[in-house]
Amino acid sequence: MWFKAYHEFGHEGSIDRSNYRAEIEPDRCKGCGLCAKRCPMEAIQLVESEQATNKLGKVAVLETEKCIGCGVCAYKCPTQSIQLLKRDEEETVPPEDQRQFGMRWAEEMMLAHRGKSEI
Ligand code: SF4
Ligand code: SF4
Repeated sequence: MWFKAYHEFGHEGSIDRSNYRAEIEPDRCKGCGLCAKRCPMEAIQLVESEQATNKLGKVAVLETEKCIGCGVCAYKCPTQSIQLLKRDEEETVPPEDQRQFGMRWAEEMMLAHRGKSEI
């Protein structure tokens, strides 16, 4: 539901990213595309690359700014080409439960609404 809200309605506040981000090692990637299929943020594309060491000539490429650090890509990568690295930015604390998530979301919506009406 949250990802649908993000992708279909552009509700950026419906997603909280973790304090990690994925990183792909292209020379280990075998171009299977599993990570791209699994990524809920559509942050990974399979592209032709000179860095590819596989027969397909393709590697997985990440758009880091889209990555929320969920790790589902790394978990199933058959060649362990994906690592999760700690972000450099200030740590964010995810909501403890659905209630806290809802309250934060409502606050963000109010602030966004207030910002628009002040323009
Ligand atoms: S799952 Fe691993 S091997 Fe497959 S495309 Fe992604 S990074 Fe490459
Ligand atoms: S960590 Fe999650 S959001 Fe980031 S690339 Fe992997 S599957 Fe996509």
